Amino acid sequence: MRLYVQVTEQCDLACRHCGFDCRPGDAEPIRPETLAGFLGSLPRAPSHVALTGGEPMLDVGRVLELTRLARARGAVVRLITNAGWARGARETEQLVRALGRAGIRGLWISAGLYHDEQSPFNNSLNLLRAARRIGIACHLNYVYLWPQQAGMRGKGLPAVDARVGDDVRTLALQRQQVSVAVGQPGAGGLSSGWSRMWDRGRARKLIDALGAELAAGVRADLLEAERAQGPSDLVGLGKDGRLLCSRIEGFGQAALP
Ligand code: SF4
Repeated sequence: MRLYVQVTEQCDLACRHCGFDCRPGDAEPIRPETLAGFLGSLPRAPSHVALTGGEPMLDVGRVLELTRLARARGAVVRLITNAGWARGARETEQLVRALGRAGIRGLWISAGLYHDEQSPFNNSLNLLRAARRIGIACHLNYVYLWPQQAGMRGKGLPAVDARVGDDVRTLALQRQQVSVAVGQPGAGGLSSGWSRMWDRGRARKLIDALGAELAAGVRADLLEAERAQGPSDLVGLGKDGRLLCSRIEGFGQAALP
């Protein structure tokens, strides 16, 4: 079972395509007790826990606490991040080392048209390099996301649906990208709403641009991630303890569309 934990709804970016409508703010992130209680309520322990947001690294201490908690229950823990904090090589490496010591095994690093408008791609590159040096698997998550198509519709976020539905640029991009489809066949050329690693189309060119050595490393990580994808059961936990989605038979009311 894979569990996605929304550490916070806040983000230092405010991407126009954001499925959760995240933006800067100062709300409290998820409390460790909330995660501990939720883990205790599950029918079985998750094999994989992904910490996501918003941007989880807005509260590094909380990320470390949550990681240790999930690790103590035997889960492989990964962090999904926009890399906005990876501005300098030295500070980035220090933070990645701290993540590794806490038990983070993988970094899913976001990039993409909408991210790159606000956060230079160089940040993602800094983070990829640091993670590779330290030996943490990393995945460049280049997202062309149209939330309605990717299954984000109907999660109590009608304002997001409306905004994205009106986003002609996003729709045009979605149509152009049919040839880089990943995920479910016929999904329309988009990564899944919950992040998916891929190496097709424009992403392939971006990975190539990393240089031979780093590109080979990233591709090895992508393959490993595909192999280790684990079971298909999936649960999402909101930062307030709300069940965001569940694909587990008989568990909770929320369901992915
Ligand atoms: S970086 Fe991710 S969480 Fe933050 S606004 Fe962009 S899409 Fe949303």
